[in-house]
Amino acid sequence: MKVIGLIGGMSWESSLEYYRIINETVKEKLGRFHSAKSLMYSVDFEEIEILQHQGKWDKATELMINAAQRVEKGGADLIIICTNTMHKMADEVQKSIKIPLLHIADATAEEIKKQGLKKLGLLGTKFTMEEDFYKGRLSEKFGLKVIIPNEEERQLIHNILYSELCLGEIKSQSKEKFIRIIKNLAASGAEGVILGCTEIPLLISQEDCEVPLFDTTRIHARFAVEYALKGDNNKI
Ligand code: GLU
Repeated sequence: MKVIGLIGGMSWESSLEYYRIINETVKEKLGRFHSAKSLMYSVDFEEIEILQHQGKWDKATELMINAAQRVEKGGADLIIICTNTMHKMADEVQKSIKIPLLHIADATAEEIKKQGLKKLGLLGTKFTMEEDFYKGRLSEKFGLKVIIPNEEERQLIHNILYSELCLGEIKSQSKEKFIRIIKNLAASGAEGVILGCTEIPLLISQEDCEVPLFDTTRIHARFAVEYALKGDNNKI
């Protein structure tokens, strides 16, 4: 079993989910007392959130590279960044380390392809929904068509993420708002919806919606376990 390296703390509420899912998945696959060999560097999210909203992405990239190098030095065999948004600098992080970085969008796209879907709605922070680092990867590398909520809905989602979910607050009014936005995406032709922020699954689950949902936290965590349990060191 390879050692799974995690960069967490963005937010720690979602990193807890990663930790739980990777351990549950190892137990599901290997049984008995098996659990994941893992190593997490958890950041102070206050520092990251300020840099994001001030647009200081170079400094945020430095912090992520520093975190990745610490995890690599600690002995991890692979690395996952436990947030969609901070994949904005995934290429720079990968260049700064020798171990493979398993990209959350790649893991998600593979799951979507297994289900044969082509047109997907994407929910996440405004950075993830509006910039090209995530949508571009899904379309260029995997041929998926990605649609996003309208401007007002995007702002609403972003506000709920940063003023509630990343602070550990789960509110039923916000859940209703997410359900309505997901319905709107389905009405615009989305065959599935990507929960492209690792806290959204704390609020919404498949039982709440008819359209297939792709829970990036769960997909990414399970993807890392698949890789960790492969017998060789080759890329997937
Ligand atoms: N966890 C979130 C994500 O998946 C947002 C927190 C962050 O800004 O990293 O995008």
